[in-house]
Amino acid sequence: MYELLIKNGLVYMEGEFLPVNICTADGKIAAHLPHGTEPEAAKVVDARGRHVFPGFIDPHCHLRDPGLTHKEDFYTGTCAAANSGYTFVCPQPNVKPVPSTLEAYMQEVEAGKARSIVDFSPVGSPLGSAEDVKHIAEAGTIFFKIFQKVATYPYNTTAGTLDTHKIYKAFENVAATGKYCCIHPFDKYFFDAAVEETKAQGLPITLENVRYKWYTDEEMSGAVWQLAYFARKTGMKWYAMHAWMPGYIDLLRLLKAEGKMTIVTSFEYMPSIDAPDEIYHVPTGKNIIVGHDARPDKEKIWEAVRDGTLQMIGSDHAPHAPEEYNHLDALNTGAGFAMLDFFGHLLVSHMNEGCYNLQRLVEITSVNFAKAFNLYPRKGSNLIGTDADFTIVDLNEEWTIDKDYKIYSKTQINPYLGRKMKGKVKNTVVRGRVIMSDGVVDCEPGWGQYVINN
Ligand SMILES: [Zn+2]
Repeated sequence: MYELLIKNGLVYMEGEFLPVNICTADGKIAAHLPHGTEPEAAKVVDARGRHVFPGFIDPHCHLRDPGLTHKEDFYTGTCAAANSGYTFVCPQPNVKPVPSTLEAYMQEVEAGKARSIVDFSPVGSPLGSAEDVKHIAEAGTIFFKIFQKVATYPYNTTAGTLDTHKIYKAFENVAATGKYCCIHPFDKYFFDAAVEETKAQGLPITLENVRYKWYTDEEMSGAVWQLAYFARKTGMKWYAMHAWMPGYIDLLRLLKAEGKMTIVTSFEYMPSIDAPDEIYHVPTGKNIIVGHDARPDKEKIWEAVRDGTLQMIGSDHAPHAPEEYNHLDALNTGAGFAMLDFFGHLLVSHMNEGCYNLQRLVEITSVNFAKAFNLYPRKGSNLIGTDADFTIVDLNEEWTIDKDYKIYSKTQINPYLGRKMKGKVKNTVVRGRVIMSDGVVDCEPGWGQYVINN
């Protein structure tokens, strides 16, 4: 008897959706059968009229575990991920302790093994010694990450640095391991100038007065030319992350056309696409002002997704406790918010809005990640013998994100209240186990496995 039968769905395999019944055993895909052939299985999901994607993968979220678990932890954060179809997540390294030594890295891995319900790979920090970087790479981190910023909370950790020489050395160390490294590009002179300009106008440094002047095209794209050169000079594989500003996207097109560097790319959804100025806190029914960064050219982002310049989309799920937001003090307030409960649904809905087509949706949610980071076909393929991770989607369901929408993230934030949606993730399956059905997440902590790509 099989563990799971998913019947009557359209299953993605190698470029097309096919009418196939899927059977799983021991967490792997065991059989593809024609519709109508239904062997016995412990659990059956009828996916009639639905599309069976390879399980969605989020290359960029903040799960705050270990060390900052009053904001989120592996359990609550991955329940939120499962709620919108994510089967695999890559938590970023601004946790406590920062995973820049093998010991700290393994502490985060153990936290994930204890509490995650989806598969996971913590992202290592390469700001330790060359030996540390080597050990974390050997342990299996899929890529490394540096925050080129220390200015605002929560980035004032040792996962961040403004020291370009230190960044160059870290790139050399990562290059020696053959892994990718990404970096959040930043230029503190621009950041500080926005604050000084606002003060000179006699205005208080509130989010409303200053945040829209931060992370502009000239700031981010300017910084990224130097970082790209460092990556090229050191021969490091570059994961170009946070690529939403026009000059950054133009640079990636240029470098990809030239073909002299190994590059994989993403932009991050939460800060760049329709970022709200206020987010709704469900338990109190109050709005929290969060402001927004300099607005990118949204149409240019979608164009870059369509033409393949941008290959992945990270959620940048970045929860903070409600009391950590203070819009009156822009230099000491939480930046970002929790959004994994919504992310997968949003990406489906954007396809229906015409931002990209169905094939591109599959690529940006799983295939491109799996291929770039040497996990294909185990992840991202739906082929026989591979991990039975699926995201089952109704492409046509129309719904509105309302106050009753069930949220699993610890902070209970609804940033997209009132948004009209077309398309909804109906089931999330991790290694043959259905962990979410119709918005109900049902899985004990620890089902998620640590995934390495050595
Ligand atoms: Zn982030």
